Amino acid sequence: MKKSTMKLTVILTLVAVVLIVAIVVISNKHAQDKTEIVRQEVDLTGQPLLGEEDAPVTVVEFGDFKCPSCKAWGEMIYPQLVEDYVLSGDINFSYVNVLFHGKESILASLGAESVYKQDPEVYWDFHKKVFDAQPEAARHDEVWVTTEKLLELASEFPTINQEQLRQDIDEQLTLAQVDIDKELYKKHNVSQTPTITINGITMENPFDYEAIKEVIENELEASKNE
Ligand code: CA
Repeated sequence: MKKSTMKLTVILTLVAVVLIVAIVVISNKHAQDKTEIVRQEVDLTGQPLLGEEDAPVTVVEFGDFKCPSCKAWGEMIYPQLVEDYVLSGDINFSYVNVLFHGKESILASLGAESVYKQDPEVYWDFHKKVFDAQPEAARHDEVWVTTEKLLELASEFPTINQEQLRQDIDEQLTLAQVDIDKELYKKHNVSQTPTITINGITMENPFDYEAIKEVIENELEASKNE
């Protein structure tokens, strides 16, 4: 009798311990789930902006004109974003230069910053033209970004002064802007391009449009409750 009571006590104690451990583990897991969303807003002072300035959600691409995935992203995801959310005023979009491919990344960025400085209105068209000029992925390692190529791409925009553009690239007159971008992507620990952030939340997979939509919808919903 006594023995069996002790046995029961031991079993009950064990059950209690298991339950407590389980509760602790589950609540920890819960806390982790909640803290998984890391938000680090991007300071977009002086950066190109597509869409309404006061849109409730801001999407930022950290991209590199020399990066084949960025070209692919611009062809697969970006047009959907513009159609679904930029045109409706729900989001605005910005682009920060990343310089992971050396000299050509810098040249393209210097040129893009010059075009933006000269006429922000044509920036996004020029931006697209540069990506369009990127050769197919298999040949992307060959040198294709040159001052002459950038001048040629900009030549159809009458508001862009060719001499100014040449000077900005060759004498690195827009390097200060490129350096600001460099500081930004370092600050945000960008290790691959494209990196996409939505209101400061970095997307794990920039090509998962459903996941992008989900975060945007959540942010839109949250902005309505503010
Ligand atoms: Ca910039």
